[in-house]
Amino acid sequence: MTDGDKHEGGCLCGEVRFEVSGQPEFSGVCHCRYCQLRSGSALGVSVFFKKQNLRITRGTLKSYKFKTESGKEMDYQSCATCSTTLFWEPEMVPDLVGTAGGVYDPPTFWYSCELEVFQRSKADFVHIDSHKSYNTSRLYAPVHTDDPRLMGE
Ligand SMILES: [Zn+2]
Ligand SMILES: [Zn+2]
Repeated sequence: MTDGDKHEGGCLCGEVRFEVSGQPEFSGVCHCRYCQLRSGSALGVSVFFKKQNLRITRGTLKSYKFKTESGKEMDYQSCATCSTTLFWEPEMVPDLVGTAGGVYDPPTFWYSCELEVFQRSKADFVHIDSHKSYNTSRLYAPVHTDDPRLMGE
């Protein structure tokens, strides 16, 4: 492993710091309502790594777990002090952890945006240059219907 394979990042207040090694398994933009509500913004940016490639070097995380439309659990992890969401662990991909695309130290956007998912709830003013885009996602398999507030169609 060379230094070039490592990227560091952290939350707004600086208490939580982490490091990833190697290249992401996949990365992209998500327009789903969960990402919009989690971030308070128009979209979420996820950079997914194998769990063993993420090392939290400092700080305390708080966790918020909920069941998605798929009936599977999602665990959002944020800084216990400043509330920046840093990581997510979807039960759907148990060996992977999502890292928030905006929390890497500059040059922040060192990874590419390969995928764009959940176009069904995309804001009209957002234009993303991705290789592949989906109205929902390749893994989309709902087992119940969310409240309209969470559907975004
Ligand atoms: Zn913080
Ligand atoms: Zn999403």
